[in-house]
Amino acid sequence: MNVQKENIGIFGKVNSGKSSLMNLFLQQEASIVDSTPGTTADTKVSLIEIHGLGPVRLFDTAGVDEGGELGEKKREKVFSNLKECDLVLLVINPETDDLSQESEIIARSRELNKELFVVYNVFGEMDSTVLAENIKRLEGDLSLLRFYKSIHLSVIDAERRAELLDFILSTYVPKSKPRSLLPFIEKGEYYVLIIPMDAETPAGRYLRPQSMVEEHITRNWGHPVSFRMDLSAGRGPDFQKEKERYLSFLSEFKRKPKMIITDSQAIDLVAPWTPDEVGVTTFSIVMINHMSGGRLSTFVDGLKVLSSLRSGDKVLIVEACNHSRIEEDIGTVQIPNYIEEKFPGVVIEHNFGREFQDNDHLADYSLIIHCGGCMISSQKLMARLRDLSNVDVPVTNYGLFLSYIQGSEVLKKVLLPWKIKCLF
Ligand code: SF4
Repeated sequence: MNVQKENIGIFGKVNSGKSSLMNLFLQQEASIVDSTPGTTADTKVSLIEIHGLGPVRLFDTAGVDEGGELGEKKREKVFSNLKECDLVLLVINPETDDLSQESEIIARSRELNKELFVVYNVFGEMDSTVLAENIKRLEGDLSLLRFYKSIHLSVIDAERRAELLDFILSTYVPKSKPRSLLPFIEKGEYYVLIIPMDAETPAGRYLRPQSMVEEHITRNWGHPVSFRMDLSAGRGPDFQKEKERYLSFLSEFKRKPKMIITDSQAIDLVAPWTPDEVGVTTFSIVMINHMSGGRLSTFVDGLKVLSSLRSGDKVLIVEACNHSRIEEDIGTVQIPNYIEEKFPGVVIEHNFGREFQDNDHLADYSLIIHCGGCMISSQKLMARLRDLSNVDVPVTNYGLFLSYIQGSEVLKKVLLPWKIKCLF
């Protein structure tokens, strides 16, 4: 099991005490705290372990009420962070008399179905009656505040840390539960990993999806076995030799491997060469299912649009990281070549390592083809899915697209382990 981290974000106006709250969690001066408005120039992220909650990623965000062009940029970043968070901590100075920013944070959190708690940060000495009156006044001004659990404390008082953690542990219901990377693994079975090792493959280690899959199989008492496939040989005039080498390797097992997990770009060889009784799927499909919290069917649905793709339609190829590229790069060469061949006139654009909110024309695309997303957090990937769903743009994935291109039988085969039936 890969343990998912909870994302907890601290939000509020400039100088409401967000960074001090972060420090209270961390018990150290990790965030810069002073009284100059806008000290938190960008979001600061820290990893902590909260006993009873597990690993937590804490976001200390910039104030949302700063003016000017830079302030506007910070706001965009803050609201992008909000999408990634599982829990929103809204810090409010009980003496404030303007709740317009807090109102927007609550509205956005509701829109995204986020869990939210209010932290009333008491500055200096405040009589409990005065504090209660202040909170009542704020709840009168912004009635939605009544719907949220709250705590009041001075966030610079280190002794209140235990109380804060107790409050979170007793009220927060974590949404992200540990998910199995490969839900179909069976103890004692063999699983073959097809690893082509092209010029892009770094020396001394496997790529992240490959090492995650290998570790997961081993942890679950299965037996991972790697096979290096020569893609050039397999697609060249002497392809029969490479095919025989692969089949001979498979025949050496006393008991047939349960499943082949292949690099997506080898699916054109692996799918037709693998005996019917052995299952096949791809690393990219494994990763996108895992990172999206099991939403593989959303990416399968995205393929439907391919049957109606017309000349002039725009397709966006998305990679979650910027890695070095080779001549036969999957995102810049292989997928575009397939699109040009099968869907002439379709316009291809790329979005590598950038966030969707930087793209003002997201709604113009007919389809997004996303990589496995192994280098971003699950929450970030789910935030991307929400963005696409809001603008009604279908999304699919590298592994699914490359399987679809090989025909419906191949697509059915790679989906079989996931118990997803493909009706097109
Ligand atoms: S984030 Fe995407 S492009 Fe980058 S290594 Fe992972 S799967 Fe490949």
